[in-house]
Amino acid sequence: MAYLGVPKNTIEILQKYEFRFQKKYGQNFLVDTNVLERIMDAAGITGEDCVLEIGPGIGTMTQYLAERAREVVAVEIDRNLIPILEDTLSKYRNVTVINEDILKLDVRQIALEKNQGRPLKVVANLPYYITTPIIMGLFENHVPLEGITIMVQKEVADRMRTGPGSKDYGALSLAVQYYSRPELVANVPPNCFIPRPNVGSAVIHLARHDKPPVQVQDERKLFAFIRAAFNQRRKTLANSLQNAPGLGVTREQVAAVLEKMGLSATVRGEALTLEQFAVLCDLL
Ligand code: SAM
Repeated sequence: MAYLGVPKNTIEILQKYEFRFQKKYGQNFLVDTNVLERIMDAAGITGEDCVLEIGPGIGTMTQYLAERAREVVAVEIDRNLIPILEDTLSKYRNVTVINEDILKLDVRQIALEKNQGRPLKVVANLPYYITTPIIMGLFENHVPLEGITIMVQKEVADRMRTGPGSKDYGALSLAVQYYSRPELVANVPPNCFIPRPNVGSAVIHLARHDKPPVQVQDERKLFAFIRAAFNQRRKTLANSLQNAPGLGVTREQVAAVLEKMGLSATVRGEALTLEQFAVLCDLL
């Protein structure tokens, strides 16, 4: 089977199976061997690794992974791609394709079955419409992970890396930075894909922290506060938190804690660092 990283081979496969792209699944297939190599380098795949690939498409990156890893589990939602994957991956014995929605799958179970519960490496050219729930799901469910190397929309890569004071700063930045150290690997223009997306893309590597950079008593509560703080960006932190259902804090409590922390009563969530959110959460 020919390698799919070049446009000619990808087009041949798409024509052979008369494949119809489904926009709702965010299907943009990578056709650039340099970008594929850079993703492999950043992910640091070795012959010991068990890799989870989310959305293998026609198997382009899966071929690269299968040649480097001990084991690859590829989860693809579109059942029309399954016969194609059987063809393009036929020579590999170390690949399991699962036809499922990644958001409905118990990834911890995959780590248990395929890697004796040891950390997985996640590598993916993600469907952009569900990037945030995928990343948050992996982190918040405490899936054993060594690192995540993913292609995302460029703007999302910016949001993951930024800090207070930037318009891109938000709940995703804080969650990603709580769990990992984000590093930009490469910017990727639309002409590296078939079909071309309408947005720029970027490869980002999230190196999982052994221990979060801040300590909190209750991690779930921290993220409930963070979500509430950014739910209505224009509002002050005090207004956002007192309005948020399920948090059970009063305006007076928030005001007292802000004062104790030396913050203005009218401060917005976007001005607080991760450390400040952790202190706020513990004090409340
Ligand atoms: N990895 C391939 C590549 O690089 O050429 C395809 C990447 S494409 C951007 C995203 C892939 O994710 C598509 O194959 C799409 O069908 C699949 N996908 C979309 N939503 C999914 C979901 N909820 N669960 C699993 N796969 C999904």
